[in-house]
Amino acid sequence: RLIKALRVGDSVSRQGGDEFTFLLCDLIDSKSYKNLIQRVLKAISVTYNVDGVIGNISASCGVTLFPEDNSDFDQLMRHADQAMYQAKLAGKNRYHLFDFNTEEYLQKKYTSQSEIEIALAREEFVLFYQPKINMRTGNMIGAEALIRWLHPEKGVIGPVNFLPQIENTQIMVSVGEFVIEQALLQLNVWLNQGKCWKVSINIDAYHFTQENFVARLRQSLAKYPYINSEYLEIEILETVAIDDIDLVSNIITQCQALGVSVSLDDFGTGYSSLSFLKALPVDTIKIDQTFVRDMLDDDDRLLIEGIISLAKVFKKDIIAEGVESVEHGTVLMRLGCDLAQGYGIAKPMPSEEVYSWANSYTADKSWSIWADSTWEMSNLPLVTAQAEHIKWVQTILYAIDNGYSDLPHHELIDHKKCQLGTWYYSHGEKYYRHLDSFKQLEVVHKKIHLVGRDIISCIDEGKKAKALSLSKTLLALKSEVLDCLNILQREINF
Ligand code: C2E
Ligand code: MG
Ligand code: MG
Repeated sequence: RLIKALRVGDSVSRQGGDEFTFLLCDLIDSKSYKNLIQRVLKAISVTYNVDGVIGNISASCGVTLFPEDNSDFDQLMRHADQAMYQAKLAGKNRYHLFDFNTEEYLQKKYTSQSEIEIALAREEFVLFYQPKINMRTGNMIGAEALIRWLHPEKGVIGPVNFLPQIENTQIMVSVGEFVIEQALLQLNVWLNQGKCWKVSINIDAYHFTQENFVARLRQSLAKYPYINSEYLEIEILETVAIDDIDLVSNIITQCQALGVSVSLDDFGTGYSSLSFLKALPVDTIKIDQTFVRDMLDDDDRLLIEGIISLAKVFKKDIIAEGVESVEHGTVLMRLGCDLAQGYGIAKPMPSEEVYSWANSYTADKSWSIWADSTWEMSNLPLVTAQAEHIKWVQTILYAIDNGYSDLPHHELIDHKKCQLGTWYYSHGEKYYRHLDSFKQLEVVHKKIHLVGRDIISCIDEGKKAKALSLSKTLLALKSEVLDCLNILQREINF
């Protein structure tokens, strides 16, 4: 329905859960998005009939316009997100345009320190929680507390929009102390519900290196004698730890003496040296999300492999942040990193939603299938082959709909040139040519490439009806390829 409501060339993607993003290109003017969004809202609200069960849903939309909102991609996403929140507040089933020109936006950009102080006193800050899971077992192991400002007029404001204003001030210390208190309160609630989840909090450098930091932490913990302090974890930034390694190491050791563990956040962005990592007594290394996001490319995967090996050498736990898709998780598991956090699992959510999220969460099937096995990295193309193949088929189906294809020609016609093919005729052939499933895969894989090529020829010649009828064969072959891959993956692994 979503795709049908939009124009050719627009994109729809699912962010996870019930969140979708639209990228609407080449708008004639700054108002023409309105019709499109109305069409989307209408399409969604048409009654659903699923096996005789009737359902109705509505959506809330947030919009921002580039280049009027002259921000980078992440910022644009955040603005659209904030606008969506406004739409929800205004009563749902509607859209809201981000106000990039108004006083409100400029003010939001330049919130003053005193406003933040007042907000703290008025209890306008809350902690959202983002689950961390073990991909092998599918269990939630803990959550990271991420601060949000529930502004009475401006809606939800994220930390990047107000924490920089209070850097190196006493207000940052107050905010940090508030975070510690809230996290302990929350731990108490979850422990009472029988949930032994570790809570991680982010502590700013200025606060962490205050002379009385550990003493104050001890006082806070003492208020909750029933909470085992091992359930609390502090995240500090790698860049911060490098600044004064002796001082920071000392404080880390004191925290650990209290039972509180310490994790090195955004690891990989600080260019720390080996000797630094050796000297720093942190318990966990958290791989920065920028590496994780690009890891399906070879170079970045090598970086991640390197970080994971480092963690193993120095006997640190390792967790990845920014896991946005199942494939990212699969590859991380293969490389030896089982713990993960990211939009592909869950977005940060209000504390009261976590319990039911955890109860209804089941990790992706493809994670549990491979939970007991280890892979050789040269077989990575086989691990990601399903996803690649599904994408390849979708590109062809999309081409039928739109009358053109943007698939590189060689990948389309030559079954040896697509990602799976490249693996098949090099590493694959060298080691697995004796397996029946390996031979069978070649047969169906060749066939599907031939059908794909015929479809594209039909499209080029304007024979859409013929292309459509061939698409049935394509889908049947797709299932065969996926079955073959499954059998082969198992055979190679056991
Ligand atoms: P961080 O500690 O590295 O937290 C991870 C950030 O990445 C969070 O942004 C989270 O919402 C976001 N994130 C998680 N998974 C994904 C994903 O799959 N894709 C993408 N694109 N993003 C993902 P958030 O909540 O905006 O926090 C930003 C930063 O602000 C945090 O980075 C942390 O350094 C700081 N921060 C957050 N809460 C606090 C706090 O209570 N105190 C202090 N001092 N800093 C905080
Ligand atoms: Mg963090
Ligand atoms: Mg981080």
